[in-house]
Amino acid sequence: MIDELPEIDLGFEDVQEYKITILLVDDQQMIAEVIRRALTTEDFDFHYCKNPTEALKVAEKLKPTIILQDLVMPEIDGLTMVKFYRANPITAQVPIIVLSTKEEPEIKSKAFEFGANDYLVKLPDKIELIARIRYHSQAYINQKQRDEAFKALRKSQQRLAQANKILQRLSSLDGLTGIANRRRFDQLLKKEWLRAIRHSSSISIIMLDIDFFKLFNDTYGHQGGDDCLKQVAETLENSIHRETDMVARYGGEEFVAILPETGVHGALEVAKNMCSKIEDQHIPHKNSKVADHLTISVGVATAIPERGSQPETLIAAADKALYEAKNNGRNQVRSAGFHSE
Ligand code: GH3
Ligand code: MG
Ligand code: MG
Repeated sequence: MIDELPEIDLGFEDVQEYKITILLVDDQQMIAEVIRRALTTEDFDFHYCKNPTEALKVAEKLKPTIILQDLVMPEIDGLTMVKFYRANPITAQVPIIVLSTKEEPEIKSKAFEFGANDYLVKLPDKIELIARIRYHSQAYINQKQRDEAFKALRKSQQRLAQANKILQRLSSLDGLTGIANRRRFDQLLKKEWLRAIRHSSSISIIMLDIDFFKLFNDTYGHQGGDDCLKQVAETLENSIHRETDMVARYGGEEFVAILPETGVHGALEVAKNMCSKIEDQHIPHKNSKVADHLTISVGVATAIPERGSQPETLIAAADKALYEAKNNGRNQVRSAGFHSE
């Protein structure tokens, strides 16, 4: 039984906000102090690392939006540091401005070759430094946010597809009994009808209705009636065996089965089997006028549909047979055209 829709989480992760975060790596504290002062007017997060051997670790933890890297340092030279940053997945995309003491074309071209994004001669002009920090940081932040938005979009698309699958399944099931509903039945009948036309094969429909179900409800209460419907649905499902057969709740206490590629005799056999399986359940129905337990009346119709014909004609024929079964005393199977006991 389907009580309610499962919770479907379409949560769209937020794209993060980033603040411009600078990591300056320079062995000269004085330079660092000058740069720090130059940036105080800006809303930047400024961090300084004096020791180049620790710089990579600091960068991994800090996740700066820009690295200002001194070129000449005692332990490791700045160009090697640029290589290290680029080789590390955390810092691989972080923009790097190398700071050099002078304008040297050869070193400059090496720096760019190793992956630096910019080159400034110390001490750079304040306005230029700020402009370049902003420019490179913003490009990096934009890229990160784009990546995050894309990831979130992918995830929500996946969740949406999953939710659609669940909804599609639920929209074809009957809420009380969990078997196929009328909508699903109509869809499948249309499809199987056309298939039968293409292959000139026979198709059968079984329509059935619980006998004196109003009296059942009056006797055992609505909840008792609901429980009974569930048991009937399950029993009917157990009466069909082929992959292509389907039982659906047609409405109220009426059920229907489609049996593709099944002729009159096969369909009658399934119908009778349904009848006896329901009887075998011995569901008490003391106020029924045909037995002391629950029974059903069944109508069967079979067709080899012709091109241009409509499946509704088969439904109408099965319905008529069901009506005859009711009129003829209930608890029996009738087929369109001839009857069987
Ligand atoms: P007949 O043998 O001629 O079919 O008599 P009947 O009483 O079964 O037929 P009728 O159409 O007069 O009554 C059908 C009853 O089925 C009435 C309705 O309250 C009950 N019913 C329909 N759907 C549900 C349901 O989902 N739950 C319950 N408990 N009862 C239902
Ligand atoms: Mg009934
Ligand atoms: Mg009815």
